[in-house]
Amino acid sequence: MKDFKMVPVPKLARLSDMPMGSSCLSFHITEGNAGWRVFRPVIHLDKCVGCHRCYLVCPDGAIHKEADGTFVVDYNFCKGCGVCAYECKPKAITMEKEDQYV
Ligand code: SF4
Ligand code: SF4
Repeated sequence: MKDFKMVPVPKLARLSDMPMGSSCLSFHITEGNAGWRVFRPVIHLDKCVGCHRCYLVCPDGAIHKEADGTFVVDYNFCKGCGVCAYECKPKAITMEKEDQYV
């Protein structure tokens, strides 16, 4: 068996130390939503603590931070996977049925 050494995990002291990953703007990494989303994430700003977690974990890069510090979902790219809602610790994101919005 090949011998290998684990690469040490870097200490992340600041947000800027985090890998960019999927936090690039959505149009850099994915095509627009094809219209099959069943549930959409809705951010409740009164509960949001601004932790950036949703922004960092969205696999489609569909959550952006506005100049005033609020987080918004770009529904042109969101696929409705629910990862952001699952990862939001203060439960500031709820997944709501898409047909309420058409
Ligand atoms: S994960 Fe939740 S609390 Fe954190 S920035 Fe996103 S909406 Fe706000
Ligand atoms: S539901 Fe999925 S694709 Fe849509 S904003 Fe949340 S994590 Fe991104």
